[in-house]
Amino acid sequence: MKNWFSRIVKQTATPPIAECVEKCFNALPLAYEQGGQVAVPNRQSIVEQLQQDCQRQLELLRISLQLKTAALLWSGPAADQLSLYACSSAFAALNFGPYPLGVGMTGILKERNELLLAPVRQHSPAIPYYPNNLGVGSFMAVRLFLPGNAACQPDGLGILCVDRELPERWTEAEQRLVELTAEQLLANVNRARQLIVSDRERHAYRRAFDGLRKLNSSLGLQSAFTAIAEAIRSIVPADFLAISLAEGEQHRIAYVEGEQAALLAGQSFPIGQGVVGQTLKYARTFPEDADYRGTLPVFSEAHLFAEYRSLMIVPLCQKDGPTIGALIVAARQVDAFSRTCREILELVATQIAIKIDLASSHEQINRMATVDTLTGISNRRAYQCGFEAMLDRAERRSGALYLVLCDIDHFKRINDGFGHPAGDEVLRQVAKLFARVVRSVDLAARTGGEEFAILLEDADGNGAWKVAERLRKLVEGLELIFLGKRAAVTISLGIAAFPQDADSLEGLVNCADRALYHAKECGRNRSVLWDEIS
Ligand code: GH3
Ligand code: MG
Ligand code: MG
Repeated sequence: MKNWFSRIVKQTATPPIAECVEKCFNALPLAYEQGGQVAVPNRQSIVEQLQQDCQRQLELLRISLQLKTAALLWSGPAADQLSLYACSSAFAALNFGPYPLGVGMTGILKERNELLLAPVRQHSPAIPYYPNNLGVGSFMAVRLFLPGNAACQPDGLGILCVDRELPERWTEAEQRLVELTAEQLLANVNRARQLIVSDRERHAYRRAFDGLRKLNSSLGLQSAFTAIAEAIRSIVPADFLAISLAEGEQHRIAYVEGEQAALLAGQSFPIGQGVVGQTLKYARTFPEDADYRGTLPVFSEAHLFAEYRSLMIVPLCQKDGPTIGALIVAARQVDAFSRTCREILELVATQIAIKIDLASSHEQINRMATVDTLTGISNRRAYQCGFEAMLDRAERRSGALYLVLCDIDHFKRINDGFGHPAGDEVLRQVAKLFARVVRSVDLAARTGGEEFAILLEDADGNGAWKVAERLRKLVEGLELIFLGKRAAVTISLGIAAFPQDADSLEGLVNCADRALYHAKECGRNRSVLWDEIS
């Protein structure tokens, strides 16, 4: 038994079969697998294995029935063609195809399931893999049906052909053997397809978990979005990807990549509007089959996504928790998102929801620790940390650091005259102006009640003075009306420089403070350089 088997195996490995395998490698019935372009790492080896199995079966059949050729033809690469997918032949000059479908024997097989021909004559329909019918005595062909393709469209056509020199009729036993081989070949193909599908699923899950691992190590909302996008892209072949987060009655696109990304980023839409709004409202994945015809409003009527044929919107919610947002993926390809893709995305969505929730509350806490809640600019704590770091840097690099202290003039009068809420509004309006005078490398902060500070790195006396004066004039020009009256708001500023004026943090604060005091003494609404009064 063992010897018999190894002899067969050895024979199947010899040319012209190896060459045939090469030529027919891509003309494969596995083209029907679904799930888009996500690669299956073992696909190649499964395909090769299938082809070897088929070769072996054909070799076995050829030897048993003393055939000239046993060949398996399959449609492809084009739908109207047949190719020699696998064969065992004693004939050296086989035509490997592809053959036009419908010509010669293949034309008859398009209409019938089986064809028996004995004897074969010169004018009988042509056998596609031979130059002519010379030397062929009898011919038999059986059609192969792929399950799920019962209509047997031309693109799913498989034909097992056998022929021999003897012109005798085929016996029933011979017919049965050919039919059994056809069934076995079909079983091989189906098993390979199944293997590819499960291999794809296994790898999709693996990529999903790899993606989640990366997600866990990301900090902050932006890096969480980037990690989420990377994880999603490794699961589904998306041309468009967005995350929209619920904000009260609206949802806002917090992350987007792909077509129209720049246009959509940051846009808000009402919950309930469009399919994304519906997904958020009902916490259900849309649509059932991910099939999209480009006719439903995705975010709104203005966003039909006409160029996409696959769309999936998954709600982001923690287990039994509220829906915090939605994940939107779209692809131009038809059937890009398989059922498995959808299941994995729904699984991952829970983790994404947890991560986004965590990252945003983390950011909120961080913001609260460094941002002044009334004005939205840096608070005293951020100022102190920033001051120490900047001074340290200036010392190390022998650079300059300017401190500008600002104080609102007669602020008590504003409070007394217009009320505390008006005073708060003045603080907010003044704070807003700081953003207009400082560079991104500078630090502006509210350091106390109506006191502010600016730290300017790598500036010079002239630059610091200009910043102070610009700010002073902007404040002076504020048009603030309370109780029908304009509130005149001005500020006084004191400026000191490291290392010229002082070489320590306390020393610098002291100089700037005394310069500020001087400004108040001299009538307020002015800037004073410590250097000029010391
Ligand atoms: P000067 O020109 O000498 O600086 O006079 P001033 O009135 O601004 O100085 P003073 O330090 O006497 O008054 C500061 C006032 O700022 C006292 C306090 O009630 C008020 N204040 C401090 N924090 C807040 C705040 O958060 N909101 C409001 N509305 N007022 C505040
Ligand atoms: Mg004050
Ligand atoms: Mg004041």
